[in-house]
Amino acid sequence: MSGLFTRWRRERLLRQARRAPPAWHLPPWTHRLPPAARERLHEQVALFLAEKPIEGAQGFPVDESMRLNIATQACLPVLGLGYDWLDDLPRVIVYPDEFIPLIEEIDEIGLVHRREEIRAGEAWSGGPLVLSWSDVEAFPIQGEAYNVVFHEIAHVLDMREGGEPNGFPPLPEDLPAARWTEVFSAAYTDMNTRLDRGEETELDPYAADAPEEFFAVASETFLVTPSRLRAAYPAVYAQLAAFYRLPFAVETLFETPLTDEMISPISAREGKPEEPYAPLTS
Ligand SMILES: [Zn+2]
Repeated sequence: MSGLFTRWRRERLLRQARRAPPAWHLPPWTHRLPPAARERLHEQVALFLAEKPIEGAQGFPVDESMRLNIATQACLPVLGLGYDWLDDLPRVIVYPDEFIPLIEEIDEIGLVHRREEIRAGEAWSGGPLVLSWSDVEAFPIQGEAYNVVFHEIAHVLDMREGGEPNGFPPLPEDLPAARWTEVFSAAYTDMNTRLDRGEETELDPYAADAPEEFFAVASETFLVTPSRLRAAYPAVYAQLAAFYRLPFAVETLFETPLTDEMISPISAREGKPEEPYAPLTS
C-alpha cells in the first residue's frame, strides 16, 4: 500500500503531466493500445521516470530515450494491476549487454560459493531491476516470446511485499489461490515431463527450472505471444488474463505482424562483446 504522502505526491506529478505533456513520446508499438489504455500507460511512465532512477552500470551511458523505453516496458505489465505493484522496485541498473551477476550462496557448512551465470536480467526482492540494454532494445522481435523486462517484472510482482519468489504472487480477491496452485502445478509438471521425454515445448524450457521461472516465462509469453500460451496451457492463460486484467486485448499488441517503425533497432545486438560484463560490485 502506498502511504498518504506518496499518493499526494503522485497525484501532483500526474496533474503536472496532464497540464504540460512531457517532451517525449511513448515507443511506437504503444499506438496499438486503445487511447484510454495508452493514456494510463503515459501517466504510469511519467511516474516511473520521476520516481525510479535508471542508471548505467560501470559508466555505461543511459540517455532519455533509453530510460523511456525501459520505463514503458516496465509499466505495461501493471497497466491493469496498478502502478502500486511496482512500489518495491527502487531503481533500474542497465548493463550494455548480458552480464554476470554477483550471486553468492552459503552452504550448510558456511562455505560461500560464487555462481557465475550469464544473465540478460535480474530482479531482487526490494532491490534494483538489472537489465541488459541490448536485450531491452531488441524488443519487439516478430514471433519471439522474449522480453527480458516483462520477465523480470513478473518476478517483482511475485516478490511483492517481501514475498518469496515462488510463482505465487499476491492474488486479487476474485482469484482463488487453490485454483491458481492447481493450474500452475499441473502445467509445471507437464512441462518437466515433456522435457524429460526429450519433447519440444511451446514455452521456453527455462520455465521448467523452478515454479517462479514458470510464472515469469508464462507471463512473458502471455504478453508477447499470447496465442502460443493459450494453445499450450489454456488454463494458465486464463489465470494470467484474470491476474493481469489488462485494459486491452493482449493479442492485439505484439502478435499481429509488426510494421518497420514498430521494431527497435537491433544494431547493439550485432556488436555483442566476446565476454559478458563483469559482476556489479557496488
Ligand atoms: Zn527469471
